[in-house]
Amino acid sequence: LTENNARHLWHPMAHPADSLANPPDIITGGDGVEITDVDGHRMVDAVGGLWNVNLGYSCEPVKKAISEQLDRLPYYSIFRGTTNDAVIELSLMLRDFFEPDGLTRAFFTSGGSDSVEIALRLARQYHKVRGEGGRVKYLSLKKGYHGTHTLGASVNGNANFRTQYEPLMPGCYHIPAPYPYRNPFGETDPEKLAQLCLSALEDEIAFQGAETIAAMIMEPILGAGGVIPPHESFMPGVREICSKHGILLIADEVITAFGRTGSWSGSRHWGVQPDMMCTAKAITNGYFPFGAVMISGAVAEVFENDTSGKAAIGSGYTYSGHPVGAAAAIACLKETERLQVKDNAAARGAQLWEGLKALKEKHALVGNVRGGHGLMCAVELVSDRSTKAPIDKKTIGAVHRVAYENGAMLRVSGPNIILSPPLVLTEAHVNTILSALDAGLSAQG
Ligand code: PMP
Repeated sequence: LTENNARHLWHPMAHPADSLANPPDIITGGDGVEITDVDGHRMVDAVGGLWNVNLGYSCEPVKKAISEQLDRLPYYSIFRGTTNDAVIELSLMLRDFFEPDGLTRAFFTSGGSDSVEIALRLARQYHKVRGEGGRVKYLSLKKGYHGTHTLGASVNGNANFRTQYEPLMPGCYHIPAPYPYRNPFGETDPEKLAQLCLSALEDEIAFQGAETIAAMIMEPILGAGGVIPPHESFMPGVREICSKHGILLIADEVITAFGRTGSWSGSRHWGVQPDMMCTAKAITNGYFPFGAVMISGAVAEVFENDTSGKAAIGSGYTYSGHPVGAAAAIACLKETERLQVKDNAAARGAQLWEGLKALKEKHALVGNVRGGHGLMCAVELVSDRSTKAPIDKKTIGAVHRVAYENGAMLRVSGPNIILSPPLVLTEAHVNTILSALDAGLSAQG
């Protein structure tokens, strides 16, 4: 398997030569919140797949729903004049789920990158339908991650994901993110930093001209950029600025929706109603590739009341509203609500966060720990605490390896170790993650 993997399989987010040099972890089994590798080694999945396996790997109602749907109708998607009954049922459930966020309509996609692409396109179209076709630009946060498609890559805040593919979409501008540990203002107070970033947003809008900007897209808590929760004033401040200038606010909740932050959505966590919300990942918990863009009533009405013909949605997918995905999503939402997973995410997240703070006291390699909002945490490693010099790839790789051997799959992202386990884990599982990480850090000290 290792040899075939190296020869015939390219890994995303990796240099092709890396999979030749470093044999990957081949996972062959998943059960509860644990995974098993090809050698039979079992460990807690502290990454929850890729932040998506909120309900764990053996969720029987989801498996049953998929199998029943496969027997009844394995395929018929939403396209022009067709739809299917499963996805209609799902759209009603999503409406109920996201009504507190002001979001009542759904456009179905095949994953997070698609959801981002669709939301950004719909934002431009919304303005065109309203006769403001000059609003074509996009704003986003530095360190934000919005997927792999061209629009998403253009708004990605991390230049590493953009430069190889430039020129990308023109008219995308990146605002400093409120990241107290490292920021261009040298500001460590989260509230003051949030205000500085909001001022930078106002400045960029003034410079570009509000009448040229379609939308601002942001994650309520930056995820892949290193789990960076902003001060509570930040997202409400962005909402206010966007509303003042007629700019749509798109919440990219591909990670944060469905309970990960300890709230049903990241936006709700900050008391903000976005105009659109990108979802994917936990909507089907990894059991089927699926996503949905949720749309506010006010935005939807502009499309629905259009008489000019400009509102026809020109973005169609073969798999939009796939009935098997819809059936999986219905079952996942039912389980998500029945188990009230957001409450366990909050409780176990608090335990994990306390444990990480203790590890920071113990290990000089730990420069910064971030968490405190459900089961989304990060440990940023440095080679020197006083200069904050980033850790080298080899050392962080070694931390990962020792933790793996000690029973926890972690995720390394640049200088960060990301922790986003399934939301159904127990106190004992959190202790396993913490002791495995402790072992990984101790082995380097
Ligand atoms: N947006 C965010 C915030 C994400 O974290 C991701 C994936 N990690 C995406 C978009 C892209 O989603 P996908 O990988 O399902 O295309």
